[in-house]
Amino acid sequence: MLVIALVLFGLGLALGSFVNALVWRLHEQQKGQKTRAKTQSKELSILNGRSICPNCRHVLAWYDLVPVISWLLLRGKCRYCKKPISIQYPAVELAMGLIFAGSYLFWPSTVHLNGQWLLLSTWLAASVGLLALAVYDLRWFLLPNTIIYPTLLAAATGRLAYLSAFEKRPLHGLFLWAFSLLIASGVFFVLFTYSKGKWIGFGDVRLGLITGTLLADPQKSLAMLFLASLIGTVVILPSLSKGNKTLTSKLPYGPFLIAAAAIMVIFGDSLLNWYKGLIL
Ligand SMILES: [Zn+2]
Repeated sequence: MLVIALVLFGLGLALGSFVNALVWRLHEQQKGQKTRAKTQSKELSILNGRSICPNCRHVLAWYDLVPVISWLLLRGKCRYCKKPISIQYPAVELAMGLIFAGSYLFWPSTVHLNGQWLLLSTWLAASVGLLALAVYDLRWFLLPNTIIYPTLLAAATGRLAYLSAFEKRPLHGLFLWAFSLLIASGVFFVLFTYSKGKWIGFGDVRLGLITGTLLADPQKSLAMLFLASLIGTVVILPSLSKGNKTLTSKLPYGPFLIAAAAIMVIFGDSLLNWYKGLIL
């Protein structure tokens, strides 16, 4: 068990590196499309090409790319131009490693029984996309479709496979999934339509399709929305009181939703049971 957790931790670290590269290259591409810059070249394709320093564009060697370790050894500076490298890079790598190992260790059901391994793998695959979306939204207030759609595809394929192969009442499962989508995505669709896109972006509606599919449970989806507002409030209150942000200033809602969805996927059953115990 510990060995699997360690392997998943290592895999997570590497995929965290991938998330950093993906987010950065995607943003460079979109910038390039806007400005029609000539610097846009093949080296910025999302899946191929060598990693380069965002500042001096020096091609990085493998020893510059070891997750977390390289950043620590270089004391957060580029080896070639000495420009500080954002703490985002090791933080995202570490977060992905912890999500991978933690999801396995704290998975709510026995992993090797009743197709739970399928749900766990689906979640792990989707969590890579979700972390990329969270980082992108935090930095640029946008949930790019280029990440949304593959993540949604992974989540939906896993859910369909689980329903057809392991769910004893597939129709019931399908109904719960649909109801879950209605809450996780429908609420944002109503808010988006009602405010004509002023309060939230359509990206949040699409994100709801992913979280609603991963949870596939209306109760958990509802709890996720509540939890996201709670996390949002806790995070925003200190900066509000310092006067850094006003209530009208732009705020990405995606990261809160993604964090809440992750908590509900792993701890949803325990949280709901605890809550039901409180009110009954
Ligand atoms: Zn550099």
